[in-house]
Order: sequence, then C-alpha cells, then structure tokens
Amino acid sequence: MKQPDPLPWPDGCAGAVSLTFDDGHQSHLDCVVPLLAEFGLHATFYVNPRGDTEAEWRARLLPWRAVQAAGHEVGNHSLSHTCSRALRTDAEAGRPALEDWTLADVEADVVEAERRLQAVLPLPAGQRRSFCYPCYHEHVGEGPTRQSYVPVIARHFIAGRGLGEFPGNHPATCDLHYLWSWPVEMVSRDRIRQQVVEPRLPGAWVIITMHGIGSLRRHHTEADLRSLCTFLREQRQRLWVAPVATVARRVVAWRAQRKDGG
Ligand SMILES: [Zn+2]
Repeated sequence: MKQPDPLPWPDGCAGAVSLTFDDGHQSHLDCVVPLLAEFGLHATFYVNPRGDTEAEWRARLLPWRAVQAAGHEVGNHSLSHTCSRALRTDAEAGRPALEDWTLADVEADVVEAERRLQAVLPLPAGQRRSFCYPCYHEHVGEGPTRQSYVPVIARHFIAGRGLGEFPGNHPATCDLHYLWSWPVEMVSRDRIRQQVVEPRLPGAWVIITMHGIGSLRRHHTEADLRSLCTFLREQRQRLWVAPVATVARRVVAWRAQRKDGG
C-alpha cells in the first residue's frame, strides 16, 4: 500500500504560503492584483459586500469578478464587519458589537454576505469559499454568555482565517475554521522571509495578512509587497503559494488520505 504523503504540499514543497488582503481596498484592485500578475502569484482578497440596495452591492462586487476569474480567491469577510466593543471607548458605545449578538445574528450576516458574493462571483458547484473573522474576533456575548462562533463558520465555509499563536498552521493539527494568520504590518522584510522559510512548526502553512497598500498606517508600501513577491518567486521550489481555499481543499484531501492509510 502506498505510504501517505508526509505533507500535503505539491511538487515536494516544504511549506505553503497564503497571501491575504482584507477589507476590499481600492489599492488591492489598482496595485496588488497587477503586481501579483507580474509574479504569477494568486492570493485571497476578503471583502464585505455592503450596500443598501441590490444595485449598490452588485456595483461594489463587480470589479472583483475579473480578480476571481484571474485565479484569485474572493473570500467572505461578513456583511457588516461587526467586531468586539472592546476595540472602542464609551463614546462610540452605541454601535452594534459582537457582545450584543447571538450565533443566529452572525449566521444571518455571513449567509447574506455569501448570497451576495455568489450572485456576482459564483463558484463552481460544490466549492466553498474561505471566511475571514472581522478584527480576528470569533465570539458573541461576553462573560457568562460568551461563546465561539467558529462552529457557525464551519457550517458554511471550507476555512476561516483568524489570528494566531505562531505565524503558521501545521496541516495535521490546525483548526481549518480558525486558522492562524500573521498581520505583517510593521514587520521587517527580513523577519517575514525568515518566518516564511523556517516557521515555528516545520512544514507549516503560513498565512500572511495585509490591509491596504499605500502610505497610511497599517498599510504596506508597494515596494514591500514587491520585495515579498520576489522572495516567494525565488523560493518557489520549496514554498507553495496559493489562496486560502485552495490550500484548505488540499489539506482536507490529504487528511482523508491519511485516515484511509494512503
Ligand atoms: Zn476587516
């Protein structure tokens, strides 16, 4: 009987990397997508299909159609981007927060976002998108009523991207519905390279989180992204770069193969 592969990554790669970009910034369309095309790399872009009318949300999603067609994943980042109220002060307390929400509220929000995404950016039959937890938060309620909404995400998505302990997920042990990711704002180029090549968990899948590209705080410069892409291209014999849903599908198939004993 054939031995199961020790790692799920293709072509003998020693690790996997997913580049993820949150919040549907215009700079993703204007700068990131063309830059990735230069390097032949594919990423995941997490968007919120907001809009009060159907015409509004359709118009918002339309530019992402070409992005998905080019081989990138356009992932679900919820409809309302609701986070914990602990991020705010008293002065802003009126706005809805996860502390006031139930699991049913979360489910309605992400299912409506998915309905809109599917309307404009349909996936092949049987394929599911990945989800990205707004502000990395995965709970509703607080104190005695606090509970995880990860099980809700597990019902509707192939994977969920959160925040993590290490910059990497081991394919045998990670929770696909709360994957660890690494926001690399303010992280030096050398440290990103080192962690990607030698993650704390050998063989890991490193998910890098970025927001806008530009000069604002929490934004990367185009030069930073170009440097990372150049590095990933140099490392292509050892690092497999693919969108989150693509890597998750491979992990699911590999786990099933291991269970069957090869
Ligand atoms: Zn966000």
